[in-house]
Amino acid sequence: MNKLGIVDPEIAMWLEKELVREISTIELIASENFVYQSILEAQGSILTNKYAEGYPGKRYHGGCEFIDHIESVGIERAKKLFEAEHANIQPHSGVNANLAAFMALLKPGDTILGMNLQHGGHLSHGSRVSIVGQFYNAVDYGVSRETELIDYDQVARLARQHNPRLIIAGASAYSRQIDFARFREIADSVGCYFMVDMAHIAGLVAAGLHPNPVPYADIVTSTTTKTMRGARGGIILCKKQFAAKVDKAIFPGIQGGPILPNVMAKAVTFRIAMTEQFRAYQRQIIRNAQRMAQNLEQEGLRIVSGGTDNHLMLVDLRPAGISGQQAEDILYKVGITVNKNMIPYDPTPPAVTSGIRIGVAAVTSRGFTEEDIDSVSQIIAGLIRNANRGVEMEAYKGKVLELCRKHPLYLESFEMDGLFSGLENK
Ligand SMILES: *Cc1c(COP(=O)(O)O)cnc(C)c1O
Repeated sequence: MNKLGIVDPEIAMWLEKELVREISTIELIASENFVYQSILEAQGSILTNKYAEGYPGKRYHGGCEFIDHIESVGIERAKKLFEAEHANIQPHSGVNANLAAFMALLKPGDTILGMNLQHGGHLSHGSRVSIVGQFYNAVDYGVSRETELIDYDQVARLARQHNPRLIIAGASAYSRQIDFARFREIADSVGCYFMVDMAHIAGLVAAGLHPNPVPYADIVTSTTTKTMRGARGGIILCKKQFAAKVDKAIFPGIQGGPILPNVMAKAVTFRIAMTEQFRAYQRQIIRNAQRMAQNLEQEGLRIVSGGTDNHLMLVDLRPAGISGQQAEDILYKVGITVNKNMIPYDPTPPAVTSGIRIGVAAVTSRGFTEEDIDSVSQIIAGLIRNANRGVEMEAYKGKVLELCRKHPLYLESFEMDGLFSGLENK
């Protein structure tokens, strides 16, 4: 028996339940993924014992000679993978990476221009409820009502009108490629900085399946979770000229000692991302996403912007006459996890919404291919179409478990069977 189970059976029990939940449900939350065993080992390692304020070769604690190697290797890999001049791999999270990027480039009160939250942007790009919206004067752009694509003319207009210090590109719920060259042009036309937050799409960028923002942006931030399928945490990539400012902004600016197990897990993440196997995985993500979008459209639902170029899509549920909240609830009842999400110009309030966001990175990690996606889309469409009529849930639950059993996660399939028989008897 493992130590955790002996020392703290209460918490160990909840952990076991969460494991069973993860392996026996279909995970379609676009920001989630299942990491490799090597990442779990790195994050659970003895590096959690160590303090290492500062950077390799310039620490405020002793005993860092091995840590320095680990962090330096991680930095070099990040630079190589994304063709960046400088990398900082210490941010505790994606939001921290953004805060540090802002601190490196801006003074409190400066104007920033980022994507509207309700059109797919991220809280940390200027929302009033975030510290970002309170420290900086945030203005936002959105997508065009007709095409549901980023309205670059509006970005240019707002840039001329508000004269921002920084323009931010990047999103959490945008299914199309972002034109970084166009953003750079707009930033140059008003003489401001340009930053890209590629948190969602970093895995696709690493695999060469989405244009790389690094050549265009002054600073690029990311998480190493989501499509990167790696460590929990963030990174900052930048031009040499911003390197010192970025490093100072992370430490001592907004963080203390780095979370070393995560720094190490990021190094491992980058190594994996350089393999052909990882690139094949990213290609399968795109094939699965496109298949899902086509299927759902054929079933009479509307995909925002008409499709997807990446790992996610927004589904407009108004043709089916149900809300995002209702869809999220009914899908979870059979073991499919999605999140309700505003669609652009959503007439329904944020707590309810007219849409759901679907991402396929996590199920693709389990080995789902187009054939499995066909089954998943049939389940989703069947449930959504019949949501207002009362649906026979048991058959759908069985189909979800069947797909999960077909693609075991973390455990061998015979071990999963034991857990599953418990589930099915309930
Ligand atoms: C997820 C996300 C983040 C935040 O990352 P955390 O690790 O949750 O702090 C930042 N930016 C974008 C665009 C994201 O999608």
